[in-house]
Amino acid sequence: MTAKRNPWKLVLRIIVGIFFVYGLAVAVGVSVGYFVAKDNAAHQVTSILVPQQQIAESMPPMNPAPAPMQPSASEVTHAEPGTTPVAAPVEHAPPVAASTPTIAAAPPKGWRENAISMPPYAYRDKKLIAIIFDDAGVNAKRTKEIIDVKSPLTISFLPYAPNLQRQVNAARAGGHEVMAHVPMEAEDVDAHPGPNALMTDMTDEEILASLHENLDKWNSYIGINNHMGSLFTADAHRIGLVLAEIKRRDLIFVDSMTSPKSIAAKKAQELGILTGARDVFLDDVDNTDNIKLEFKKLEKAARKHGTAIAIGHPRANTITALKEWLVAVENSEYMVVPLSVVLLERQKNTGEKHN
Ligand SMILES: [Zn+2]
Repeated sequence: MTAKRNPWKLVLRIIVGIFFVYGLAVAVGVSVGYFVAKDNAAHQVTSILVPQQQIAESMPPMNPAPAPMQPSASEVTHAEPGTTPVAAPVEHAPPVAASTPTIAAAPPKGWRENAISMPPYAYRDKKLIAIIFDDAGVNAKRTKEIIDVKSPLTISFLPYAPNLQRQVNAARAGGHEVMAHVPMEAEDVDAHPGPNALMTDMTDEEILASLHENLDKWNSYIGINNHMGSLFTADAHRIGLVLAEIKRRDLIFVDSMTSPKSIAAKKAQELGILTGARDVFLDDVDNTDNIKLEFKKLEKAARKHGTAIAIGHPRANTITALKEWLVAVENSEYMVVPLSVVLLERQKNTGEKHN
């Protein structure tokens, strides 16, 4: 004898089944959404230093950290250095109607593309110091020692250095900003700035061709500063020509101040370029006692003006003195920051004065 099947029981089972499957799908969706959001949030808070373009695109933090911390270069995150994003081939691209409006390619981002930015709360009440290491890349071993420093430095590479892009990529991955150290003519005829140097006896076309040679074979720099150039940076017409091209490319210019007669920083400012001039040469005299004195001068300049820019070179004494100084000023009123942060802060203060 078989029990009579109740058709309503079957319908009920199907309905319960549908609800069960639907509920399971919702639960999975919510879980995945939660973890993706959590992951994104983690990426946003793990770093004080982020690339300039990310800062511009993201909202300011709602709950700023109570106490600013000395940033570590290793905390820096930015786009994969030296790589141009290449679109992955799309195998089954949806057909696009001829009338669909296309979005124009974004204009070049200039210095912002490669700058490392910091939210203002990270350096509130601090005296900001940028340290540029000139002549980088030629001595790969010393350059590596600079790259390994765990504070955000600014490393200015000679464009004729061997394995240039590889070294630059390492510098970027180490959390440092990169500059092009463009060779220019010195007053001293015995000083040789190197290949593709900008010289005062060149025609305008030759100067621009040399500048292109210096800048177009590599990437990831935020701007340029002059290698030597005591004669060239005092030549209004010729340095003006270079600065007009820097302006066109929306790059930063720093006057190394190899001559008191240099008019480069002043001209750059007139052109509206994000610019600054070196305050202290750390190692004009290559011994640690003198370099320590220069670090004191650097502190004094930063105390007086709120910001200061130093230039040093990848030499044993300078690196030793730098490391000692970094330990000494940890958690002090001084803070080592990327060059672009100092220049932006100066620009802000200049604007306030004029307004
Ligand atoms: Zn130099």
